[in-house]
Amino acid sequence: QHGLDVARVRADFPILLQEVRGRPLVYLDSAASAQKPQAVIDALVRFYTHDNANVHRGVHLLSERATEAFEDAREKVRRFLKARESKEIVFVRGTTEAINLVAQTFGRKHVGPGDEVLITGLEHHANIVPWQLLCEQQGATLKSVPVNEHGELVLEALDGLLTPRTRILALTHVSNALGTVVPVKELIRRAHAKGVPVLVDGAQAVTHFPVDVQDLDCDFYAFSGHKLFGPMGIGVLYGKKELLEAMPPYQGGGDMILSVTLEKTVYNRIPYRFEAGTPDVAGAVGLGAAIDYLEALGLEAIAAHDRELLAYAEEVLGAVPGIRILGRAQERSGVVSFVMQDIHPHDIGTILDREGVAIRTGHHCAQPLMKCFGVAATARASLALYNTRADVDALVRGLHKVREVFA
Ligand code: PMP
Repeated sequence: QHGLDVARVRADFPILLQEVRGRPLVYLDSAASAQKPQAVIDALVRFYTHDNANVHRGVHLLSERATEAFEDAREKVRRFLKARESKEIVFVRGTTEAINLVAQTFGRKHVGPGDEVLITGLEHHANIVPWQLLCEQQGATLKSVPVNEHGELVLEALDGLLTPRTRILALTHVSNALGTVVPVKELIRRAHAKGVPVLVDGAQAVTHFPVDVQDLDCDFYAFSGHKLFGPMGIGVLYGKKELLEAMPPYQGGGDMILSVTLEKTVYNRIPYRFEAGTPDVAGAVGLGAAIDYLEALGLEAIAAHDRELLAYAEEVLGAVPGIRILGRAQERSGVVSFVMQDIHPHDIGTILDREGVAIRTGHHCAQPLMKCFGVAATARASLALYNTRADVDALVRGLHKVREVFA
């Protein structure tokens, strides 16, 4: 197996070659949104320069080419997730829309008064609020698997929380706030043993290691293109064919129908039933290019790089005086979340920015999780395939500056 040649990888990302505030950019915020390789930027330009037209409608050549490009991208996503069939891949705007789609179609069909929806204490707001909305609409109850002091799910609590009223379990694969890798395969097995279907939020997982939806046996899997080095505005919902086929539509409009009369509309087959209106064709093409790029580098090589760099980051950050790293789950991926004694995370972020180091500070859209750690916010450095030990070293130098300022 070949290692990742990070110097060559960095050269593929033009945005990284700039200075910010008079310093070389050190981008440690890929969990919020990842940068794009030239191959993705080129694919977008190529699409708009040569192939742009609406899809699935026209008889003309450009429309044919756009449709082909769109469906090629769907096939790339199928291969990437190791789904059985490309019709199990629905293009959406992102993870948020994917989860709302499932809540408002599958959820409204199967969740009734007195039923329960189970999530976990690790969830991003995108995997909390859509279920709260559903529970309010349907008179159902939202329950949550607790988190321990290491930032791991308390698995012993799971069987008690999976009741005969549980209609779906929705959980993250990797926590965006702590980096906890959730043993989703085991949780899916246990939920299925009680007949409960499972949605996995893969927004922070697909960027760091290979995912096989058939091996996981999840019922739904969601991710965002922009975190996977693809464009913003495109994302993916994977759903098992039998489930998608039995689901009512989400939004109504063009492309999701077979025929419309004022009395009755016959809905299109999957995945088109869930893709009302003109889709983000260029976005899908760009996402396909991102997947090609990652697969050419090797998903295992990327995973090995990310693991090694995270271990390094945790080691050197842990040695900064006054720092506390949150989340010590047995398996972690992609992010280091930390607080510093008597210094607000926002101040950490602002001082680092002056040094050219970009990190995220705040509650990371995971306020329930922050509460359980007794903090309102953290500073979060997130790592990607183009990050190096030198980036981490720059972060540490910046944190020493922070300490000087507040000494
Ligand atoms: N889930 C997780 C775990 C995330 O990290 C994010 C993005 N921060 C989302 C969901 C939402 O993704 P998007 O904003 O792209 O829809």
